[in-house]
Amino acid sequence: MKTLPVSQALLRLARIRDGLRMVVTRDYEPRAKDCGTCEVRGACCTDEHFVNVRVTRLETEAIRRAIESFPAPVRSRVAKRAAKAAEKLGNSGGSFSCPLYEKESGCLVHKTAKPLPCIHHACYERREDLPPDSLLEEAEKQVVRLNSLVYGNAWNSDPIPIAITRFVL
Ligand code: SF4
Ligand code: SF4
Repeated sequence: MKTLPVSQALLRLARIRDGLRMVVTRDYEPRAKDCGTCEVRGACCTDEHFVNVRVTRLETEAIRRAIESFPAPVRSRVAKRAAKAAEKLGNSGGSFSCPLYEKESGCLVHKTAKPLPCIHHACYERREDLPPDSLLEEAEKQVVRLNSLVYGNAWNSDPIPIAITRFVL
């Protein structure tokens, strides 16, 4: 079977991300807590008991390209944080502090390669205001199909720090 070129798959991946972001922003985030005034801003990305996002091979490629465009000092900081978090994951498993978060800038891949669970996530006062899991699951299914079109069976999902250490270091 002819495989889909990575460049085309990345464009489709961007459309999947944009579609999810559009629905979440339009239909759910107006009832979410404002991140701009959050007293624990960034805890959602750095609290080791909370962050547990995995990314597929294609999403990792999008993150790799985004990191490649960063200035060298930022790349170096990401690499150091990823190595530290990956080592900790290797030793104890579980969750991690995301190496893509920086206090001044927030999520470094917000516009370019943000993983789907991160787009889906916000803090809501009331459980009934949360976007349904099915919204995320449908987008994730599309990403699984895209990975298969590009890589066949030769792909998996890894926690973000592990995925980054595969190419940054
Ligand atoms: S998602 Fe929640 S924890 Fe994270 S910055 Fe926004 S309000 Fe704060
Ligand atoms: S990818 Fe971005 S939004 Fe997701 S946990 Fe990391 S810094 Fe936070």
